[in-house]
Amino acid sequence: MTDTALIDVLKRRIALQGPISIADYMNEALAHPELGYYRKRDPLGRGGDFITAPEISQMFGELIGLWAAVTWQQMGAPSKCHLVELGPGRGTLMADALRAVKMVPGFYDAITIRFVETSPVLRNYQQAAIMPYGVPAVWHESFDAVPDTPGVPMIVIANEFFDALPVRQFERGNSGWCERLVAMEADSGHLCFVRGQETPIADALIPVHLRGTAKPGDMFECCAPAIAIADQMAHRMNDHGGVALIIDYGHAHSAFGETLQAVRDHKYYDVLQTPGDADLTAHVDFGALSRTITEADARTSAVLTQGTFLKMLGIEARAELLKQSADPLQALEIDSALQRLISPAQMGTLFKVMIAYGRNSAPPPCVSGVEG
Ligand code: SAH
Repeated sequence: MTDTALIDVLKRRIALQGPISIADYMNEALAHPELGYYRKRDPLGRGGDFITAPEISQMFGELIGLWAAVTWQQMGAPSKCHLVELGPGRGTLMADALRAVKMVPGFYDAITIRFVETSPVLRNYQQAAIMPYGVPAVWHESFDAVPDTPGVPMIVIANEFFDALPVRQFERGNSGWCERLVAMEADSGHLCFVRGQETPIADALIPVHLRGTAKPGDMFECCAPAIAIADQMAHRMNDHGGVALIIDYGHAHSAFGETLQAVRDHKYYDVLQTPGDADLTAHVDFGALSRTITEADARTSAVLTQGTFLKMLGIEARAELLKQSADPLQALEIDSALQRLISPAQMGTLFKVMIAYGRNSAPPPCVSGVEG
């Protein structure tokens, strides 16, 4: 095992306090103020650990930009609008979006970009990426720090943000649920998973339709910060108008299963091996987000696949247009990026899209069916 300084911090904490939850472990590994994964580096791009849709092709951000501009027009082209992006990475999606909507009358003047980003490294990239467009931008540490301004609606974009939020894991024992924890092996001093005492907490967190169906060994994940953000978003969208576009890998309906994973240098890693030096994510439970939003009396679309969503936005026609001014090598690259984004064998099916909107807002483009 490669020891990092963060692993020593975690071991000290466990030695003093006993085993910690998976959420505490994820939180330290990703967001420790000095040693957390997202605090130290640019995980995207060349030499990074993983690649995201906006980094694969400019088409992704361009189409989302057009979607946002049409959404704004359908809201009645309000003179002020918060364009919020959660976890904007290198700012590529926003830069491509802004370039695509340059000609939409009034949109640039109406929007203030609000980036929710904890990483100082990535904030610098974001600032540089959007600089050419001259649109005002403000950075916030968390979604609840985005101003809740009466009369100002918001359009929220979140691509691969929710998967980075910490989950708790619960494992079904013979008679009840136990929280899965991270402990330290007495002999080796290595971090390991252990099963905690039975706890009634999970029973309350598991959705009603799954209760009573669990078998011993089943795992259930719950992402409290995601639920809190979805709830807050729903209330704000109801109060001031608004729409949110959530794209991530995950499942359309809540289910049992373990999805926590570590990725480093484009390869899967042992989750406990290099905290702070590997990205840790869990699949997004779109069922839980949708329930939270509809329970707050806001609206959600059906969960679409990324492939379906991008085709609805016209990605194939956009690719053809780009190819008209491309040389043969570039044309091949455009086709391969298109397939990467929409093909079921690649990101097309694993990645899901959900659109949420306030109860007084018109359904935005691509809301094909309303749930809840
Ligand atoms: N949306 C971008 C980047 C995805 S990576 C893209 O598609 O390329 C995840 C992003 O979320 C990074 O910008 C990371 O710094 C940010 N992030 C992770 N945890 C966060 C948190 N708790 N609060 C705010 N931003 C966070």
